[in-house]
Amino acid sequence: MSDLIFADSLSRLGTESAFVVLARAQKLASEGRDIINLGIGQPDFKTPGHIVEAGIKALRDGHHGYTPANGIAPLREAVAADLKRRHGSDVNPDNVVVVPGGKPTMYFAIMMFGQPGVEIMYPNPGFPIYESVIKYSGAKPVPIALKEEDGFAFSAEAILSQITAKTRLIIINSPANPTGGVTPKDEVDKLVAGLLKHPHVALLSDEIYSQMLYGGRQHLSLLQYPEIRDRLIMLDGWSKTYAMTGWRLGYAVWPDAAVEHVTRLCINDHSCVNAAAQYAGLAALQGPQDAVSSMVAQFDKRREIIVRELNALPGFLCADAAGAFYAFPNIEGTGMTSKEAQNRFLEEAGVATVSGTSFGAWGEGYLRFSYANSAENILEAMRRIRELL
Ligand code: PLP
Repeated sequence: MSDLIFADSLSRLGTESAFVVLARAQKLASEGRDIINLGIGQPDFKTPGHIVEAGIKALRDGHHGYTPANGIAPLREAVAADLKRRHGSDVNPDNVVVVPGGKPTMYFAIMMFGQPGVEIMYPNPGFPIYESVIKYSGAKPVPIALKEEDGFAFSAEAILSQITAKTRLIIINSPANPTGGVTPKDEVDKLVAGLLKHPHVALLSDEIYSQMLYGGRQHLSLLQYPEIRDRLIMLDGWSKTYAMTGWRLGYAVWPDAAVEHVTRLCINDHSCVNAAAQYAGLAALQGPQDAVSSMVAQFDKRREIIVRELNALPGFLCADAAGAFYAFPNIEGTGMTSKEAQNRFLEEAGVATVSGTSFGAWGEGYLRFSYANSAENILEAMRRIRELL
């Protein structure tokens, strides 16, 4: 027991259960259990060698000090060039703010708009940090229900019909965690057209999985809609694309009106991203991109395997996973709740997965499988689950 009196807001802060599952899986493994981890969302590949070397060289060259809070100029310029190459979008490097990972952008965006009395919309099931930080800010979280029958794409109508005078920010994520869903262009067009009637509403488009698309799909960035640039925050980063989750490096393109605010949040929070990581990120953007395409090709093969194997399990129904590296099967037919399935698969079969409810109330009946693991391990995990069922 403690006599400390913490702020009330802390009781509203949630967490990311994938880290809780990871800790439990690591504990079981340390006790000698053979655990296959399909729980955590991080590429199992190594950061490509030339990127690692650039980080080491930066340290050897003496890049040990603070950098500008928004990131070194060459990196912000390289981000703008990369966005031109990938999305055909013109971005001013002054609107790019480099931060330690994908998460700080969502934290800053939500804290910038969130306060008691306002509403923020977020995908459900969706990345759990959105709902957690919205609640922490004191704002009212308004879920955008993502449905299996829509391929877990968002419906523009469902979003627009929930906008009120209190709405300050709408968060979307495509390709999506945890569902692998990708929203088609006509829904995005409708959303953008509808938003023009609500100029006070900001949009956070989380595009961290922008390069992880399968079946010939092309990523549609919200940057491709100049008419909403004045309220768009477009989040992307290096974690997933370049297998750099532990480097802590991400960025967002911010609207003119928010750049000063987010830079001040960076100065108050972390001063700047560590310099060596920024030079590594520069090498990632300017160097060869074949490591990215080879990683995506391997994810694609594993995706086919996991979707096929999941659909062969009794009580499982798995929709085609269009993007990211997650499969999100419906497991209602097993008679287990999502949490029960998560716990039994880990404790009894040694397979770590994450309960759909970790991603919001609309995730009940589903389980997230990350296929950022070898085809061999995926097949063995499926064999173990089949045996248990
Ligand atoms: N956005 C989504 C949708 C994610 O799934 C994740 C990580 O899993 C992030 C952002 C955060 O990425 P980072 O590790 O760079 O903070």
